[in-house]
Amino acid sequence: MKNIILTGDRPSGKLHIGHYVGSLKRRVELQNSGKFDKIYIMIADAQALTDNFNNPEKVRANITEVALDYMACGIDPAKSTIFVQSHIAELTELTFYYMNLVTLSRLQRNPTVKAEIKQKNFEMSLPMGFLTYPVSQAADITAFGANTVPVGEDQLPMIEQAREIVRSFNGLYGETLIEPKAVLPESKSCLRLPGTDGMAKMSKSLGNCIYLSDSADEIKRKVMGMYTDPNHIKVTDPGDTEHNPTFIYLDAFSTDEHFKKYLPEYANLAELKAHYERGGLGDMKVKRLLNEVMQETLAPIRARREELAKDIPAVWEMLKKGSFEAREVAAEMLSKVKKAMKIDYFNE
Ligand code: ATP
Ligand code: MG
Repeated sequence: MKNIILTGDRPSGKLHIGHYVGSLKRRVELQNSGKFDKIYIMIADAQALTDNFNNPEKVRANITEVALDYMACGIDPAKSTIFVQSHIAELTELTFYYMNLVTLSRLQRNPTVKAEIKQKNFEMSLPMGFLTYPVSQAADITAFGANTVPVGEDQLPMIEQAREIVRSFNGLYGETLIEPKAVLPESKSCLRLPGTDGMAKMSKSLGNCIYLSDSADEIKRKVMGMYTDPNHIKVTDPGDTEHNPTFIYLDAFSTDEHFKKYLPEYANLAELKAHYERGGLGDMKVKRLLNEVMQETLAPIRARREELAKDIPAVWEMLKKGSFEAREVAAEMLSKVKKAMKIDYFNE
């Protein structure tokens, strides 16, 4: 069996540090590991339209932003095929056939979609396209024969849904589709990075993000304004590090080297946490360290991004090339699907 990756992001905004630790960093490692036969990275514009249908300009503008974020982080179009979802009409066709294999109640039980419906105030008027996006995501994954999908934790229900569709399809029509598995970040703090406001998830749609493209000043302003432990009022109060986003970000980004360089009084994060938990460590000191760590992490990404942004037509050209290549692969899978379903009438 071939080792194939399919993964992607919705162009609903620029990418943030949650994407970086939750999925992007891993993708770059996997890309450079040489263990994969093919890597497809999809800019999911059709999926972004399911809740941004009234704002196509936003989706369009963010296609280039996401592509720039990818390349700035080390995704290399020579090694990975980056493409735009809506260009691949075959994905819509696959979605249509997969819809028969999923019930309404199954879709309504999806915990991520449930949370998003609430967050977007879709309770009273839920667009069908939005409710069914997990089915279209199953089409995206299976169209490329992907067995590996590197994602953040919120995507697990989508991968489970895709696996169910694959089993059901193969059971009914014969072995055709590959059952994918999710690859999650190794560290717990990266599974679902919280927002700067302390909300459970940093999310483009919630406006609680540090973006990969933020300027040094923006990063500093956001870090210094971050939510911490609301019960840690006086410096002497004992503080909580477990639900405190400043510490969760340090978990995700800081190294012992950072401590040597920026806060040598502590050997490592464990010592800093212990002090905070005991009491006697102020939030400002933690935030100043976090600011240094984030500045150091994001500066090279921002610099590469600025270079790449000088030639936007080259970015579109790369996306066009990737999309044509991806379309051929998806078309081949669609033919197999139609053959399995015995609806390839004119090929006989
Ligand atoms: P939207 O609010 O439009 O849904 P998003 O910020 O959730 O945007 P997506 O494009 O939906 O971003 O997600 C892309 C990938 O990034 C997915 O694999 C998702 O699991 C991962 N991801 C998104 N946010 C986080 C986060 N805060 N922590 C870890 N991984 C994340
Ligand atoms: Mg999302």
